[in-house]
Amino acid sequence: MSFEPYGERAVNTVVALVNSLAPSDGTDGLPDLDACAQLLGEHGWIVDDLTSADLRFLRKLRPRLRFAFEVQDERELVTHLNRLLSECDVLPQLTDHDGAWHFHYARPGATLAQRVFVTGLMALLVVVRDRGSDRLRICAADGCANVLFDTTKNHSRRFCDARTCANRVHTAAYRRRQRVKADTPDR
Ligand SMILES: [Zn+2]
Ligand SMILES: [Zn+2]
Repeated sequence: MSFEPYGERAVNTVVALVNSLAPSDGTDGLPDLDACAQLLGEHGWIVDDLTSADLRFLRKLRPRLRFAFEVQDERELVTHLNRLLSECDVLPQLTDHDGAWHFHYARPGATLAQRVFVTGLMALLVVVRDRGSDRLRICAADGCANVLFDTTKNHSRRFCDARTCANRVHTAAYRRRQRVKADTPDR
């Protein structure tokens, strides 16, 4: 039961939601409805019916979604995701409203936040089943607590965002090397 292309997009929505917590700089990346509409819109969600109740729900949900990336033990992760799923308004239905058969997991008429939640959980569970829980990790850069979804063939992704974190780490390593050179007395 695969549901690409929705699966990867749903996981990326979860990643963006969790990273909007931005624990490294302390500011919340999901301050209001506009920010929430933008985040969801960027990940392909139709946000016409987004409400402030959705915003509150998603904001509160983030630490529990974050735990899915922090937990080391695969069984513990599955237990966590299954428990969250048991709280959802789930009723799987096959639909082709956009031309291709795919599952909707949230009950028809569920709120946008519920649909994001349920679809995200199902997508995370499929990742664990098909690719393994180590695809869901924390960024390896010092001082960065962002989470990431590793879709590389050889499990090689280490940083949340190749542009910012990978660069930062390379710059720090370069500076360290320069410092070591400077500290070495000339002979
Ligand atoms: Zn659909
Ligand atoms: Zn990072």
